[in-house]
Amino acid sequence: MVPSGAAAGVAVNRRCTTMAMSTSPQFVVKVSKYCNLRCDYCYEFPYLSDKARMGLEQIRAAFQNIKASINELAIESADFIWHGGEPFLVPLEFYQQVNLIQNDIFGTEFKYRNSVQTNLTVLTDRHIEFLKTGFFKDIGVSFDVYGDQRVDIKGRSRTETVRTNIRKLINDRIDFRAIAVLARDTLPNIKQIYRFFDSLHIEHRILAYYRSIGSEQAQRHGLNFDELVDAHKDVFHEWLASERATPVEPIKDYVRYAVQHITSVDNDRYDRSTSERVFIIDVNGDVFNVVESYEPEFRYGNLFYSPFREIAESEARIRSVALSQERMQRFCHQCPYFGNCPGVFVANATSVERKILEVSGCRVRAVLDHIVDVFQRTDLKDYILESYNADDGAFANMHPALSVA
Ligand code: SF4
Repeated sequence: MVPSGAAAGVAVNRRCTTMAMSTSPQFVVKVSKYCNLRCDYCYEFPYLSDKARMGLEQIRAAFQNIKASINELAIESADFIWHGGEPFLVPLEFYQQVNLIQNDIFGTEFKYRNSVQTNLTVLTDRHIEFLKTGFFKDIGVSFDVYGDQRVDIKGRSRTETVRTNIRKLINDRIDFRAIAVLARDTLPNIKQIYRFFDSLHIEHRILAYYRSIGSEQAQRHGLNFDELVDAHKDVFHEWLASERATPVEPIKDYVRYAVQHITSVDNDRYDRSTSERVFIIDVNGDVFNVVESYEPEFRYGNLFYSPFREIAESEARIRSVALSQERMQRFCHQCPYFGNCPGVFVANATSVERKILEVSGCRVRAVLDHIVDVFQRTDLKDYILESYNADDGAFANMHPALSVA
């Protein structure tokens, strides 16, 4: 069922342009949903024991369907993020074969890179050796540090295993980033989570988990608007107070928006119809966005069977983008930060985020009010303006936390 405002938006979009997209798309490849953990908040929870895996011939077809559209979509590079489930449960030989297929199809002229998102509970010496080959250019580790949600099939916490494996990666000088879920169990420890990653100088992302009326899972783990805003403020202050100021998303972005606000940079506006970047490839090849992930009426197409251009120009994508534009019209175009903040949060709001937007407004705007207020009340505003007018190096060096601006 298409929400009511969609039809008008679609008509406008079709009149205006052919759908474009980012010149460097990211494909989140759901190679298998199978996982050795049973984190109760996982959005793949019902499928975690399903051992179905993409076949190498299907992956070859997906690469071919991307390659066939490189010129038409003006794609300059592509990122493949191997995701699950737990991608380290897939034999390493599989990724070696993927490497050969990529070389075969993309050759040396087209730029592409591979990344992986792992729970880091499985890390053998062979994994370490494979990681050292550099096949995965970016390694993301899902780890909450606190909260004990990350349990195995028998309900045993794997937190200590992950800590040990993080130490192994550090000792072997293998760079990685982390993602920590901000949910009911981790909320009381949100400052300590930042301090843990900051002490090891690990860049990380705080992933907000929203409360929703409709799902028991989201009821158990989700947070409300005020809790999320306060938690983000807490992380901002931890980051500002830290000598290392290890970058943490989304605070890194929010500070950039606040600095753009203070320095009157207001040309930063997101347009999904030209800049959409992330595409989820499900185990069966179905393609979704990050907004209406896995919602059948927003399936863009199937990358095993169709050229990527068809997917990028699908009716489902046009409809979804029109809804984003309509949402930005309602929220961002009335917002004092629009242009300093590109509006990605509203454009990409998921169903639960959309409900909270309607009731409580934009979370990013609430956090930006706070960050800008802190800048105004302290000498940071003068510092930002002075540094902005000085050369970039001076701006970056005076306070490490502001080097993100
Ligand atoms: S409404 Fe939110 S996402 Fe949109 S511009 Fe304002 S702060 Fe950014």
